Amino acid sequence: KEAGKGCHTSFLPEMMEDNKRKLAIASAILPGLQNDEFQVYYQPKVNVNGEVVGYEALIRWIESKLGFVSPAEFIPIAEATGRVVFITEWVIKKVFDDLSSLIEIHGPHLKVSINLSATDIKRIELLNYIERNYQMYGVDPKNTEFEVTESSYLENFEEADKFLQELSKIGASIALDDFGTGYSSLGYLTKIPIDTLKIDKQFIDELEVDERSTLITTTIIQLAKQLNLTICAEGVETEKQKDYLFNKECDQLQGYYFSKPTPLKDIQKLRRGDADT
Ligand code: C2E
Ligand code: CA
Ligand code: CA
Ligand code: CA
Repeated sequence: KEAGKGCHTSFLPEMMEDNKRKLAIASAILPGLQNDEFQVYYQPKVNVNGEVVGYEALIRWIESKLGFVSPAEFIPIAEATGRVVFITEWVIKKVFDDLSSLIEIHGPHLKVSINLSATDIKRIELLNYIERNYQMYGVDPKNTEFEVTESSYLENFEEADKFLQELSKIGASIALDDFGTGYSSLGYLTKIPIDTLKIDKQFIDELEVDERSTLITTTIIQLAKQLNLTICAEGVETEKQKDYLFNKECDQLQGYYFSKPTPLKDIQKLRRGDADT
């Protein structure tokens, strides 16, 4: 009982601090969008020939008072407070605007992926927004992919499925993100309009270290092959992981081993540097 009380007194102030920060973050999102505090970074997805076949768009935020705030922290807050739609719409415009420059570098088959959150795929209006912006920016849907997590898909299955069926019909690709971490039911995989499975980093971290993670990874790769899905491994950090995954015929790898997420400007600079040598 004593110990329990002790816990309480140290826990409460901490909780209040935590709530204060959450509130500060929530109320800084819209001003941040207005003041150009956000950026999109791009992390390459590489195939077995070393070619960049895609990029994942990852948002970055340097807030005027809070400094760098990780998307892992502010995206869940934005979702909980209904503000994530403004972020998503901003990212879509930014990516569509950048897309032609990336295609110029990597060719017409490039796909750039945008993360959608659980609340996004409940909003049918977002579909209209995406279609309008394809037109406005002259973007071919074939060059775009949308990443949704397994849990956000299954939590609102009916709405999400309608949304993603539509998106897929238009010609965009759909990737199932963080695969293997959420639900274990696999039956739905044949019923939903996905093109790509992304194996979560937690399994890649333990490749050839933990027997089960290794087995799960190779099984997911085989499953994807048999379902005719593209398979992408995320969080690849070492040459050993790269060799192992390409040996098992994983289609695409993404991770610090190849590159950290990078601003478009730096991708272009790197490219020019390459051309000079
Ligand atoms: P995610 O979609 O699973 O993205 C992968 C995360 O892993 C990114 O973190 C990326 O920078 C990081 N990562 C990639 N390769 C490596 C690696 O080799 N080692 C390690 N340690 N990490 C690696 P990031 O950019 O901090 O994003 C975190 C999460 O925030 C994302 O997880 C995604 O859920 C969310 N997020 C990021 N950008 C957006 C966005 O524009 N919209 C939405 N809705 N969510 C976003
Ligand atoms: Ca993702
Ligand atoms: Ca992921
Ligand atoms: Ca993740």
